[in-house]
Amino acid sequence: MHEMGIASSVLEAVRTEMRRYPESYPCKVGVRIGEMAAIDPEALRFCFEAMILDTDLASIELAIEVCPRRHRCLACGHEFVVHDYDCSCPKCSSLGTTCISGDELELAYLEVEQYGSSTVGAKST
Ligand SMILES: [Zn+2]
Repeated sequence: MHEMGIASSVLEAVRTEMRRYPESYPCKVGVRIGEMAAIDPEALRFCFEAMILDTDLASIELAIEVCPRRHRCLACGHEFVVHDYDCSCPKCSSLGTTCISGDELELAYLEVEQYGSSTVGAKST
């Protein structure tokens, strides 16, 4: 199950990020997963929750955003979401299209809360 390795790298990224906020604790982490990345969001959530159990990060919530596969038409420049592996352009029917997104696997955001204070936002990028 490679979701375990992904959950582990997400946690690693959270810990790295948290070094910048010594007065805070993480409350929510958002990850972006492309549908072509072949990751089962539920399996990832399961692994993540199993890994943070009984740790200092146990209260963190995982938010998973699945990004659809998108192509751009080389003929007319139209960008579209691919359904059912049909990669032809819906506008001009050209088959010359190129994949522009859908294999993402990244930390989208991390929400941290200051000890004894209100929420502060933290963007990873
Ligand atoms: Zn087109």
